[in-house]
Formats: sequence, C-alpha cells, structure tokens
Amino acid sequence: MYSLKGKRVWVAGHRGMVGQAIARRLEREECTVLTVARSELDLTRQAEVEDWMAQQRPQAVFVAAAKVGGIYANDSLPATFLYDNLAIEQNIIEGARRAEVEKLLLLGSSCIYPRDASQPMVEEALLTGPLESTNQWYAIAKISGIMLCRAYRRQYGSDFISAMPTNVYGPGDNFHPEYSHVPAALLRRFHEAKNAGAESVTVWGTGRPMREFLYVDDLADACVFLMENYSEEHHINVGTGRDISIGEFAATIREIVGFPGEIVFDTSRPDGTPRKLLDVSALCSLGWSAQTSLRSGLEAYYEWFLKNHGQLRGN
Ligand code: GDP
Repeated sequence: MYSLKGKRVWVAGHRGMVGQAIARRLEREECTVLTVARSELDLTRQAEVEDWMAQQRPQAVFVAAAKVGGIYANDSLPATFLYDNLAIEQNIIEGARRAEVEKLLLLGSSCIYPRDASQPMVEEALLTGPLESTNQWYAIAKISGIMLCRAYRRQYGSDFISAMPTNVYGPGDNFHPEYSHVPAALLRRFHEAKNAGAESVTVWGTGRPMREFLYVDDLADACVFLMENYSEEHHINVGTGRDISIGEFAATIREIVGFPGEIVFDTSRPDGTPRKLLDVSALCSLGWSAQTSLRSGLEAYYEWFLKNHGQLRGN
C-alpha cells in the first residue's frame, strides 16, 4: 500500500481528458498536485523534462501525457504517434529515476494487444501476435512504455507500474470531427445533425466492430486505486468487462441526443480491430470495478458537451 497523502504528485498531461480526470480525482487525496503547461515544458525534450523534474521533485507521477487520437489520426500521423509517445515515456521514466520518484503509473491503451487476441483479452496476450495496422504506431510506443517500467523495476528497483485502459470517453474529450475517437465523433455528429434538422448521420465502417467504453472518472479512480494498491511488474487492464457493437453504440447516442433521423454506415471507412474487450479479472480481484453504466456515463458526457460546446478543443 502506497499512500498519496501529503505527497507531491505530478499529473503529466493534465490538460488531456484523462489527466484532467486524474487531477479532479486527486482533490480527494490530500496531496499536492503538480502540473506544468505545455508552453513551459515540452515533454518530448529530454533535458527540459529532467531539469523540471529535478527542480520540482515529484514523489509520485501519473503519466497521462500522450499523443492520442482515433483510428484516422493514428493511421495518418504515424511518425508523430510513434516518436512523440516514445519520447514522452522515456523522458518521464528516466527523469523519474533520476529524481528518485517513489511511484509512477504509466497509462497505455488496449490497442497494445494483438489484433486477433482471444477475447476477453488477458494481460498475458501481450506480444503473442501481430498488431492491428491502423494503430500499430501508438501501440508500439505504449508496449515500449510497459517494457520500460518493467526494465526499470528489474534493473533499478523502481516502483513503476502500467495500466492499460480500454476506450475512454467523458468530460474533456477531443471533439475533432476526423481525429477524435468514436464517442466524441458521434456525440458531436448527432448533436449537429439534430440542430441542422438533417435526415441522417454517417457512422464509419460496418457498425459491427465491438468496443468496450469506460467513463473517464472511473478510469481516474482506478489509476488512484492502482497507485495506492498495485506494485507488480505486469501491466494491468482497466475496463468495464462489457462491450457493445459500434452500431448499437451509435443508436444509444442517437437516443441520448434525441436525433430522430437515420444512421448510415460508410463502409469505405475502416472498422479497425473487430473486437477488443479487456479481461478485467486481475483488477477486480484487487477490489476495484467500474461504477458508471454506459447509459449514465453517456448522459453525463452529453450534458458536459452541451455546457462546453463552443469552447471545445478540435472545433
Ligand atoms: P479504435 O478503437 O482504435 O478503432 O478507435 P476509434 O474510437 O477511432 O474507432 C472505434 C470504432 O468506431 C472503429 O470501428 C471505427 O470505424 C468506428 N467509428 C464509427 N464512426 C466513427 C467516427 O466518426 N470516428 C471514429 N474515430 N470512429 C468511428
């Protein structure tokens, strides 16, 4: 058990959806949250990161900083997804060793698993087969991050862990029409179609792929839980253990937004991985499970969107 109470805790990537949620969740932990603006610290520059960490002396670090994006972004910006993510991870991890950080949690994603991994995907499925090509760049960077945490634990005894969440949505998401993930893209598209009185909304692919969706505040809660209760070399999955087809997911969003029109599938767009459901039994056996149902999470998501629409990133 590692207590965050009274600690200096750096949330790297505090402007992103996950980092914001972790910072919100840490308000209940009686710790000092450290953050730094992108304009003051470029996480891809090693010397800057090491200097900043040496000065600030964080005791615990959540690595929520990453170049992220949906299926199209990943596929069309391969160098950015690979280079930026590798650089961010290695700079923060090595910086943490030098600054004698007590505990570090690295966040990744369920796309680290082989495209054809058997479902639900257990942690041991890592590196047992070829990756899905649309997100291989991001996946390779995140697999390297997991390996860095393991290697630092073995060689230096660093208490660095990694958590692999499933697809996440919630307040602070990026609503870019092309580069976002499916929840943000569809929420925005249905909302705009409703306002415009459009007859239909287009959903990419066949609607048949299966995805698991986790509300970001649940993920933040899991991260704090793991920081305090998990200290193993193996990465650990974070999800709900339930999935839904993209077609059904789109229909649920249509209902929440109140769009009366049709859903049209654009099969010229890629489906990506056919299914990626996480096996969350390791996390459950530690005593944590997700509390937000998909329905209530999506309702809160839409409410947040309506309040913040107009000042959103990606507009
Ligand atoms: P993935 O889980 O890494 O494939 O990432 P995404 O969230 O980008 O896509 C999930 C699934 O939703 C894929 O099968 C996409 O083809 C499908 N999808 C349907 N409509 C959209 C959309 O408008 N944007 C995105 N990003 N994906 C969509």
